[in-house]
Amino acid sequence: MKITILGTGTSQGIPVIGSDHPVCKSADSRDKRLRVSAMIELNGKRIVIDCGPDFRQQMLKHNVDQLHAVLFTHEHADHTAGLDDLRPFFFRQGEINCHMTSRVHLALQERFSYMFATVNKYPGVADLTVQEFENESFKVAGIEITPVLADHGFIPVHGFRAGNFAYMTDVKTIEDKEKQKLKNLDVLVLNMLRVKEHKTHLNLEEALELVRELKPKRTYFTHISHHLGFHEEVEKNLPDGVFLAYDNLEINL
Ligand SMILES: [Zn+2]
Ligand SMILES: [Zn+2]
Repeated sequence: MKITILGTGTSQGIPVIGSDHPVCKSADSRDKRLRVSAMIELNGKRIVIDCGPDFRQQMLKHNVDQLHAVLFTHEHADHTAGLDDLRPFFFRQGEINCHMTSRVHLALQERFSYMFATVNKYPGVADLTVQEFENESFKVAGIEITPVLADHGFIPVHGFRAGNFAYMTDVKTIEDKEKQKLKNLDVLVLNMLRVKEHKTHLNLEEALELVRELKPKRTYFTHISHHLGFHEEVEKNLPDGVFLAYDNLEINL
């Protein structure tokens, strides 16, 4: 299994044009972050997690010409705003499998009503095959995917486990029962926003506490704000086996 980290940034404190924050001006490419997303590749199939505003750019960067499925963590715009850019994949391959909860489905139906119209659908609009999941495992491209429910402060969010890899973003807390699904991992990708506490996202201290509890062999932090600081300096102070993810990082499992 190959994992490509397509983006590690967040709309939470996203660097704006003209920002004079030193991290935004950094010459280190690892300090330049598109919105969070990851791609799982196995047996020639590709599964993307989330479809944010930078989705098009991420697909072009990695020459992705076929997508087997898209898994959605939750409805926030930094994870869903690129939905319309699934259109080229629709033209190329026909229907696209999108896995999401009924809650996320409802939110996307409201926001992208023209994509979900059942009568007089505008020609050329991508035809998404929505497959709703609750919290039970399902198969995509022959891979078993286990959703892991977490709390994102005010709304639920799902991470996903595939083999000994798990991807958890926009987590604030996880109940003990769901934590059991995150045991014996080779690689955990986990959100970690910044040092200062935040209402709806794990900060550094909380993320490290979770890592100590779950004990994955390796952890990569993602969904990072520029307020965290420079990649190089922050990573030096992380414990063994814990790293900052960066855009275009590849992990082979
Ligand atoms: Zn969110
Ligand atoms: Zn987010």
